[in-house]
Amino acid sequence: MNEKYILIVEDEPSIAEVVGLYLQRAGYSIQTAADGKQAMNLLERGIPDLVVMDLMLPEIDGLSLTRWLRERSDVPVIMLTARREEIDRIAGLEMGADDYVIKPFSPQELVSRVRAVLRRTKREQAEVEAERALEFEGLLIDPRSRTVTVAASLVELTAKEFDVLYLLARHPRQVFTREQLLERVWGGAEYIDAGTVTVHVRRLREKIERDPSKPVRLLTVWGVGYKFEP
Ligand code: CA
Repeated sequence: MNEKYILIVEDEPSIAEVVGLYLQRAGYSIQTAADGKQAMNLLERGIPDLVVMDLMLPEIDGLSLTRWLRERSDVPVIMLTARREEIDRIAGLEMGADDYVIKPFSPQELVSRVRAVLRRTKREQAEVEAERALEFEGLLIDPRSRTVTVAASLVELTAKEFDVLYLLARHPRQVFTREQLLERVWGGAEYIDAGTVTVHVRRLREKIERDPSKPVRLLTVWGVGYKFEP
């Protein structure tokens, strides 16, 4: 698992220290900035996985800094604020933060928020990723319209044929057994057997391969299953 890097922007040394300590203990690597300038310098060198941002900072406040950051990145931001009223005021300004924590807060509570925001971000990224159209030479697979285009002409696929192709193509060169394909595409329905997979792959080849008897995309891995060659 790769380590997540969190930037803490906080001018109060004792808070920065305790927040940093808890986040490190939770397995994150951290950097701290005591003011907006320092934060900007660090952010220009690299965007972290998450920013914990104090609202009240000297010179450049957390809100301006978040706006500045938003023009560069959609990295999640958790705002620290001293007063609930501040949140009401800045909420109207579309502060661009993903969550906020009101001081005084328990460091453990902040760690939970960080975890939750990172989990949410990961899920959203996975969803965007899952919706991405896949493009290969002479073959376009678009999950949004569930269409497949071979050499610029639209090919009619059944729902299951599409699912099999899309699953294999999303994991190029990864071998899937018939059982795995059954599980992932048919949800392991008991009345379907592995032969169904074979039939679907054969039909897919007839539709997308130039020569279905000599497939170049949907390859059989003898004794194992199938893989997609990009
Ligand atoms: Ca402060």
